[in-house]
Amino acid sequence: MTQTETQAADGGAATRCRWCRRVVARRQGPGRPREFCSQRCRQWDWVSRQRAADLALGVNEIVVQRDELDRLHDDLYMLACAVEDVQRDLGSKPTNRELSDALEWLMEAAEPLCNREISAPSRRATESE
Ligand SMILES: [Zn+2]
Repeated sequence: MTQTETQAADGGAATRCRWCRRVVARRQGPGRPREFCSQRCRQWDWVSRQRAADLALGVNEIVVQRDELDRLHDDLYMLACAVEDVQRDLGSKPTNRELSDALEWLMEAAEPLCNREISAPSRRATESE
Protein backbone atom coordinates (compact mmCIF):
# COMPACT_ATOMS: atom_id res chain seq x y z
CA MET A 1 0.00 0.00 0.00
CA THR A 2 1.47 3.35 -0.99
CA GLN A 3 0.88 6.69 0.64
CA THR A 4 -1.75 7.60 -1.93
CA GLU A 5 -3.68 4.38 -1.46
CA THR A 6 -6.08 3.47 1.27
CA GLN A 7 -8.56 0.67 1.82
CA ALA A 8 -11.70 0.95 -0.29
CA ALA A 9 -15.07 -0.24 1.01
CA ASP A 10 -14.79 -3.41 -1.07
CA GLY A 11 -11.39 -4.24 0.42
CA GLY A 12 -9.34 -3.15 -2.58
CA ALA A 13 -6.94 -0.24 -2.72
CA ALA A 14 -8.58 3.14 -3.23
CA THR A 15 -6.95 6.22 -4.67
CA ARG A 16 -6.91 9.67 -3.19
CA CYS A 17 -7.85 12.83 -5.08
CA ARG A 18 -4.70 14.52 -6.31
CA TRP A 19 -5.96 17.87 -5.08
CA CYS A 20 -7.92 17.43 -1.83
CA ARG A 21 -6.66 13.94 -0.85
CA ARG A 22 -10.16 12.58 -0.28
CA VAL A 23 -10.71 8.97 -1.29
CA VAL A 24 -11.84 8.69 -4.91
CA ALA A 25 -14.39 6.00 -5.70
CA ARG A 26 -13.03 3.50 -8.16
CA ARG A 27 -14.62 3.48 -11.58
CA GLN A 28 -16.14 0.17 -12.59
CA GLY A 29 -14.99 -1.36 -15.87
CA PRO A 30 -12.20 -0.34 -18.20
CA GLY A 31 -10.55 3.05 -18.45
CA ARG A 32 -8.00 4.98 -16.46
CA PRO A 33 -8.61 5.25 -12.73
CA ARG A 34 -10.00 8.60 -11.62
CA GLU A 35 -7.44 11.03 -10.22
CA PHE A 36 -9.83 13.63 -8.83
CA CYS A 37 -12.97 13.44 -6.70
CA SER A 38 -14.66 16.27 -8.57
CA GLN A 39 -14.40 18.52 -11.58
CA ARG A 40 -13.59 21.39 -9.23
CA CYS A 41 -10.56 19.55 -7.81
CA ARG A 42 -9.39 18.72 -11.34
CA GLN A 43 -9.66 22.40 -12.25
CA TRP A 44 -7.89 23.62 -9.09
CA ASP A 45 -5.08 21.16 -9.70
CA TRP A 46 -4.72 22.37 -13.27
CA VAL A 47 -4.78 26.05 -12.27
CA SER A 48 -2.28 25.36 -9.50
CA ARG A 49 0.11 23.62 -11.90
CA GLN A 50 -0.19 26.50 -14.39
CA ARG A 51 0.57 29.06 -11.66
CA ALA A 52 3.47 26.96 -10.38
CA ALA A 53 4.91 26.88 -13.90
CA ASP A 54 4.41 30.67 -14.29
CA LEU A 55 6.25 31.28 -11.01
CA ALA A 56 8.93 28.66 -11.68
CA LEU A 57 8.05 26.76 -8.50
CA GLY A 58 9.29 23.26 -7.83
CA VAL A 59 6.87 20.32 -7.91
CA ASN A 60 6.56 20.36 -4.10
CA GLU A 61 6.11 24.11 -3.75
CA ILE A 62 2.66 25.68 -3.74
CA VAL A 63 1.14 29.11 -3.44
CA VAL A 64 -1.88 29.57 -1.18
CA GLN A 65 -3.79 32.69 -0.32
CA ARG A 66 -2.73 34.10 3.03
CA ASP A 67 -6.27 34.44 4.41
CA GLU A 68 -7.02 30.85 3.50
CA LEU A 69 -3.87 29.67 5.28
CA ASP A 70 -4.70 31.88 8.27
CA ARG A 71 -8.17 30.33 8.53
CA LEU A 72 -6.65 26.85 8.35
CA HIS A 73 -4.15 27.69 11.09
CA ASP A 74 -6.95 29.14 13.27
CA ASP A 75 -8.98 25.96 12.92
CA LEU A 76 -5.93 23.76 13.58
CA TYR A 77 -5.20 25.81 16.68
CA MET A 78 -8.77 25.29 17.92
CA LEU A 79 -8.42 21.55 17.32
CA ALA A 80 -5.09 21.46 19.18
CA CYS A 81 -6.71 23.27 22.15
CA ALA A 82 -9.61 20.81 22.14
CA VAL A 83 -7.25 17.81 21.99
CA GLU A 84 -5.25 19.21 24.89
CA ASP A 85 -8.39 19.82 26.97
CA VAL A 86 -9.79 16.37 26.24
CA GLN A 87 -6.45 14.69 27.02
CA ARG A 88 -6.46 16.45 30.39
CA ASP A 89 -10.09 15.46 31.03
CA LEU A 90 -9.37 11.82 30.18
CA GLY A 91 -6.55 11.76 32.71
CA SER A 92 -8.83 12.61 35.64
CA LYS A 93 -11.46 9.83 35.68
CA PRO A 94 -14.18 11.87 33.98
CA THR A 95 -17.87 11.31 34.59
CA ASN A 96 -20.13 10.38 31.69
CA ARG A 97 -21.31 13.97 31.61
CA GLU A 98 -17.72 15.25 31.38
CA LEU A 99 -16.94 12.71 28.64
CA SER A 100 -19.98 13.84 26.73
CA ASP A 101 -18.97 17.49 27.06
CA ALA A 102 -15.39 16.67 26.02
CA LEU A 103 -16.59 14.81 22.93
CA GLU A 104 -18.90 17.67 22.03
CA TRP A 105 -16.03 20.17 22.32
CA LEU A 106 -13.72 17.94 20.28
CA MET A 107 -16.34 17.53 17.54
CA GLU A 108 -17.02 21.26 17.48
CA ALA A 109 -13.31 21.93 16.96
CA ALA A 110 -12.83 19.15 14.40
CA GLU A 111 -15.87 19.75 12.20
CA PRO A 112 -14.60 22.91 10.44
CA LEU A 113 -11.65 20.86 9.19
CA CYS A 114 -13.69 17.92 7.86
CA ASN A 115 -14.86 19.53 4.65
CA ARG A 116 -12.11 22.11 4.28
CA GLU A 117 -11.15 22.78 0.70
CA ILE A 118 -8.23 24.90 -0.36
CA SER A 119 -8.70 26.50 -3.71
CA ALA A 120 -6.00 27.07 -6.26
CA PRO A 121 -4.69 30.63 -6.13
CA SER A 122 -6.03 32.89 -8.81
CA ARG A 123 -3.62 34.68 -11.14
CA ARG A 124 -4.66 38.00 -9.56
CA ALA A 125 -3.87 36.73 -6.03
CA THR A 126 -0.35 35.67 -6.92
CA GLU A 127 0.44 38.74 -9.00
CA SER A 128 -0.37 41.28 -6.33
CA GLU A 129 3.08 40.89 -4.73
ZN1 LIG B 1 -10.80 16.30 -4.53
